[in-house]
Amino acid sequence: MKRTGPIPWGIVRIDLHTHSSVSDGTDSPTELIAATRRAGLDVVALTDHDTTAGWEEAAEAASAEGIALVRGTEVSCKAGGVSVHLLSYLHDPQEPELARVLADSRESRFGRAREMVRRLAPETGLTWEEVSAQAQEGATIGRPHIADALVARGVVADRSAAFETLLSASGPYYVRYRAPEAAEAVRLVLRAGGVPVLAHPRAATRGRVVADEVVREMARAGLAGLESAHRDHTKQDRRHLHHLADELDLFTTGSSDYHGAGKPNQLGEHTTHAEVLALIEARGHLEVLR
Ligand code: AMP
Ligand code: FE
Ligand code: FE
Ligand code: ZN
Repeated sequence: MKRTGPIPWGIVRIDLHTHSSVSDGTDSPTELIAATRRAGLDVVALTDHDTTAGWEEAAEAASAEGIALVRGTEVSCKAGGVSVHLLSYLHDPQEPELARVLADSRESRFGRAREMVRRLAPETGLTWEEVSAQAQEGATIGRPHIADALVARGVVADRSAAFETLLSASGPYYVRYRAPEAAEAVRLVLRAGGVPVLAHPRAATRGRVVADEVVREMARAGLAGLESAHRDHTKQDRRHLHHLADELDLFTTGSSDYHGAGKPNQLGEHTTHAEVLALIEARGHLEVLR
């Protein structure tokens, strides 16, 4: 689909956090880029959980659609038992240490999902085959795939309902998976030439938010930015994060965290300033594909 007119000079719409079916989104990378175009965005980052497997397909589609692509990954990590998500932008996907840690997280997520299904089976009748059918071959497995299988089975109405009940991190069916400590993840990303940005630090959906002390520790390890504009943040959260970013000399981003049909998040519902993207590109090992 062609743009109907030129974009006003200097106005660039940038969404730096999206997921495809290579992890727990529902659009293929190609479909995601097409949706990006329809949403009127100019730049998108593909940030699937613990993988770079969607980059190549996204790059081809972005080139065909005239969308600029930031290659990224949302790195699973943890701090004090709380799950933390770290966005890495423009890192070298071949760098062995980060690649090894991501592969380990993917493997651990797989075993964890099987164990959750084993625990859920008596009450729900859920089978591993049903969950497996919800994920694309080779995708990073997550609770959303289990949620989709529960929806398909008629146990819950949608992903959100599944997360509020059976898949809750404080519930009896929840199982943890292996992931690096948050500050260590920052160091791994930097070593791979990536630009580390803490995803949705105040999102309370995982039970607890990322404590300021953890953010400070990550900043000491070289964190570059905080995702502040995100639908899981209140106005107060955003204000708090802007103060923290000032204190720690971090930039702030805004993004949708789009997951296709799996979540209400719409592409471009929050965006990032062009100057911030310039900082990211200046620090990253890879360039933004345009
Ligand atoms: P996991 O990483 O497997 O523990 O699952 C967490 C993922 O589930 C996150 O990446 C979110 O995209 C997704 N998620 C969390 N809460 C919800 C929700 N309420 N509705 C839909 N998806 C959710
Ligand atoms: Fe997700
Ligand atoms: Fe996340
Ligand atoms: Zn995300």
